[in-house]
Parts: sequence; C-alpha cells; structure tokens
Amino acid sequence: MAHVITQACCNDASCQTVCPVNCIHPGLDEPEFATAEMLYIDPAACIDCGACVDECPVSAIRPDDKLDDTNHHFLGINAEYYTDHQPSRRKPVLLPLPQLPRHRNLHVAVIGSGPSAFYAAEELLSQPDVTVDMFERLPTPFGLVRAGVAPDHQSTKLVTRMFAATAARRSFRYFLNTDVGRVISLDELAERYHAVLHASGAAGDRRLGLPGEDLRGSFAATRFVAWYNGHPDFANEQFDLSSETAVVVGNGNVALDVARILVSDPETLASTDIADQALEALRQSKVRDVVVLGRRGIADAAYTNGEFAALGNIPGVDVIIDPEDLVLSPPAAAALARGSLESTIATKVNLAREYAARTRTPGNRRIVMRYLQAPAAIVGDTGVVAVDCVRNAYADDGAIVPTGRRVRIDAGVLVRAVGYRGSPIAGLPFDTARGIVPNDRGRVIDADGHYVAGWIKRGPSGGIGMNRTCGRETAHTILSDFAAGRLSSPRTSHHDVADLLIARGAHPIDGDGWRRIDEREKASGRRLGRPRVKIVEMAELAATAR
Ligand code: SF4
Repeated sequence: MAHVITQACCNDASCQTVCPVNCIHPGLDEPEFATAEMLYIDPAACIDCGACVDECPVSAIRPDDKLDDTNHHFLGINAEYYTDHQPSRRKPVLLPLPQLPRHRNLHVAVIGSGPSAFYAAEELLSQPDVTVDMFERLPTPFGLVRAGVAPDHQSTKLVTRMFAATAARRSFRYFLNTDVGRVISLDELAERYHAVLHASGAAGDRRLGLPGEDLRGSFAATRFVAWYNGHPDFANEQFDLSSETAVVVGNGNVALDVARILVSDPETLASTDIADQALEALRQSKVRDVVVLGRRGIADAAYTNGEFAALGNIPGVDVIIDPEDLVLSPPAAAALARGSLESTIATKVNLAREYAARTRTPGNRRIVMRYLQAPAAIVGDTGVVAVDCVRNAYADDGAIVPTGRRVRIDAGVLVRAVGYRGSPIAGLPFDTARGIVPNDRGRVIDADGHYVAGWIKRGPSGGIGMNRTCGRETAHTILSDFAAGRLSSPRTSHHDVADLLIARGAHPIDGDGWRRIDEREKASGRRLGRPRVKIVEMAELAATAR
C-alpha cells in the first residue's frame, strides 16, 4: 500500500513538510523542483500514514486502493519517477525568515490577488507587526484560480481555502474593485506603504504572426478561457462555434483545457462553475472535432502527463493520434533504445502510443492530437475557413526543420494557445523581450520600494504551486530589506486609503463584501447542484457586495 499524487497536484509542496519519511519529491531544494510537472510519492518508501492527505491544498493525494479508473494511471506515473531520479534524503529546509526590528511595523501594499500575491502575503503575515493591504481591479479575488483554472478542474480551485485563511488574518485588508493607476496612483501607494508588491500576472497573449490571424473565428485562448470562466471583462464576448472543426495551436495544458471544453458534453459542464453564457453557447456549438497542433513531436509536447492522460477519460470523446505521428527526435530515439529516456518523457511517449492504438468509437466527438505540424496561414475572406499547416521533421541533432510539405485543415475556428505575456506597468522598468519587470529576487531594479512576484516577475510558466516558492522569495526580499533599513518609512498613513478611494467615486469592496458575493454565488449553485453560479457583470458584483 502507498499513497499516490493525482492530477490536481498544484506543486506547492505543502505535503513535503509533513511527510515523516521524506518520500515526496522533487523537494523544494532539489534542482528538478523548478521544472517538475507535479510531485511524486515514492511507493517503496511511503509508510501510508496519510499525513500528506490533510495537508494537500487541492486534495490530490489518495491511497492507492481508492484510485478509480480515471486516475489509476497515476500509480504508474508516481512510481516511474523513481526509476531514474535519486531523491535527496535530506528533509527540505525552508529558508529561515530574517529577524525583523522589534516594535517596528511593516506595511505592504500588494497589487493583484492571485496565487503569488497570496503566497507572498501569507509569508509576510507570518511575521508579527506586518500588515498587508491587497488591491485588486476586479470585485473578486484569486486571479487565475477563478478565471483561468478550467471549470471541470474543481479540486484545483480548492487551493483558495488556503488563500481565504490568509485573508482572514486581522492584519490583512482587501481593496477589491480598486483599479490602481486609475483611482489611486502608484506614487500615492508608495507614499503610504513601506513596500508595494506587484503580483498582477501576465494577462496578455502571444500572437502567431500569421496571415489571417484577425479573421472572425480566430482568437486567443486567453480570451476564450476568461470567457468560459466568467471573467467580467469577457462576459459579453461572442465566439462563433458554428463550424464542426476547431484547430487549437499549441499543445500545453491551456490548449488541452480549450480542447476539452470544446468537446465535452455541455450537460457534464453544467455541474461545474462554468459561466452561464458560455454554457449556453457551448450547448449551441457545432464543434465535434478539435485538432491540437504541436510543432514538435510526442516526446517534446508541452502538456503535463496528468492532463494528457486525463483527456482519455472524457465521456463520448475519442483521442486520436495517427501512428505516423509517433516520431521521436534522433537523440530521444537513441535514449529510448538505451533505456535511458527520462521517465516523464517516456511516460509522454507511452501515453501517445496508447492513444494511437485505441479503437475509435463511431459517433464520438474527437480530439485529434497532431505533432510536428505548425500553422502557416489562416485561410478565409471574412471568417476562418481553413488552416494551412506545414509538416516539420527532426534534424539529426533534434532541431526542428520545416519540410515544405503542406496540409490543409478545413476548420472555422482557430484558437491560439501559445502562451500568456506580461504587460508593462506604468512607472516601472520593463523587459520587453521577456515580458517581465526586471528584478533581483523580486526587488524591482531601479525602483526602490517596488517588488514583483508571479508571472510578471519570472514569466508566464509554472503552475499554482510554483508561485509559492516565487512569492516566498519576494516576501523574504522585502523582509530582509526592511530588516536592513533599506525601506523608506511611509510619508503618510495608509489608514486613509478607503476614504480616499470613496472620495474619488470608487467603490472598494472589502472582505465582507467579497463574502457576500461568495455566499450568493454558492447559494445559487447549491440550488442547481453546482459549486457556484458565477456573477459575471461588474455592476451586479458590486451591488451584491454592498
Ligand atoms: Fe509520506 Fe505518509 Fe504521505 Fe506516504 S502517506 S507520502 S509516508 S506523508
């Protein structure tokens, strides 16, 4: 018997600190941690004590005899990690917190309310005499956990319980519905707090740079995801889903989310917190096939194994892979022949082979995974009618080279899921090439008193848990700077912030206001057997908070 980490794993490593035998890896201080798809329990070392189950913020850990058909493959995914990884025997050590000056209060303004904002806030508030005021443009908190995590991944959203515990601290205040830069300037915040921590994420998207990209029917996954998740800025978006085929460019987890939502039975989605207007549009959708394009091969796909394996469990949906696409790069093929292909890559390859061997079910909707294929042009006059693709191949050294062979896919929908991108913050330096604010362990370069955490600090990669290490690092930098006397004292008190905002006609929402929104959404959901029914209009959210 052993415990097993399953699909919802958020990598935040809370479980590692309680495991008495240190059998959950990679550990926070192991080099693989930064790039790990998920954490894994060593079945040979686990003593089945169950301590990690209570600690996991997203309920991703199960005893192996409680796995069902949908997550049984995680038994193998956990065990395979230990076939070629030598875990550190040392217990992960958390960075000691700097000693703060006694009887001196530290006041921090945090802009943004997603995971990195909350992980940093929690670390700051674990110290006495620290206060955090959190500013968020929307009337609701939690950033991409609310507006990015797919509605059929409810257990991942459980991480918000941890954030709610941080928000319940007496030294924490919410200023939701407060657009910093519009109703209060950055300078005005900097005058009132020792430090301003920017954790507003990377909401922009990357473009393909192809002809036809702005045709009707072509859009960014970021918009589509925000729409089906009820983000107020996207509540009134319209997506033309009248075509039978959609193409999704990119094969990371966001691409798989979009593909899954497009072909899932809307009546299954109706039991989630998907936005009502999106559910209605999906009920009318004609999309039956989604083609997911990856420019590289099966061993180099960007999705995680857990998400890829879960595609095979969608009722009424076949996952199709052409056996001709099961091509490895020469270096990967050689490693496989030697038996030295890295275990997570070997799992990717095996899963792709398993899908390629599956029998198709007549009448099912389909997710067609295509590899070594990149879009070259989007075809159409006013709307998308087809996507022209070019076949790629591997050179001997594993580099990708276009072959010149063209393939046309008739499709009326083109979703680009090739990554998020950070936007400049007025008043702070910006690295345009990387889409981040340049920083040293979270301290913004050439902007005293300003700090960053999350995607705007390190770029848009890594899941929820990666923000724990990232947010903690920035919090430690702030605390160290404060302890070393490097932070200027506020010129004026932060106690007037609420009055200042109201005097300017803003309607900031505090913790009680958010509680009213949360309770109403959950109550509406209970009546329908759903986790919540999201309110998606700004005015209605604000009125509910009042
Ligand atoms: Fe560690 Fe106990 Fe969890 Fe096994 S069940 S991974 S021994 S905490």
